[in-house]
Amino acid sequence: MSARQLILIVEDNEANQLLTRSVLELEGYAVEVAGSANEAFEVLRERTPDLILMDIQLPGEDGLAATKRLKAYPATATIPVVALTAHAMAGDREHALAAGCAGYISKPIDTRTFGMAVKEFLRMVDRDRPVLAS
Ligand code: MN
Repeated sequence: MSARQLILIVEDNEANQLLTRSVLELEGYAVEVAGSANEAFEVLRERTPDLILMDIQLPGEDGLAATKRLKAYPATATIPVVALTAHAMAGDREHALAAGCAGYISKPIDTRTFGMAVKEFLRMVDRDRPVLAS
């Protein structure tokens, strides 16, 4: 019996925080919300989420820089990061992947498909994770 999977949402917009949190909690996930990259790193000192949803546009350090920093630390490098981007620009996906993101979800989120998209990312990550002998 495993504990609920934990998702860290890094998002500065309060309406988006509430929306993403409520959708994910309804899907059965445990959720932490950080309003900035610095807040996210504070959460990561205490907890290791199964997935991070990272807004690209944040006050202070932006989501891509924060992702690069996460990927540089052994303690956080293996946590999958999915970018949340308001930009539908073609180059954004490449920028997100180059920064170390596993993929991206466009904002505004579609509440009908968001939970499924997150579930798919978690499944994809589980498949890629090496199986350790116990
Ligand atoms: Mn933002």
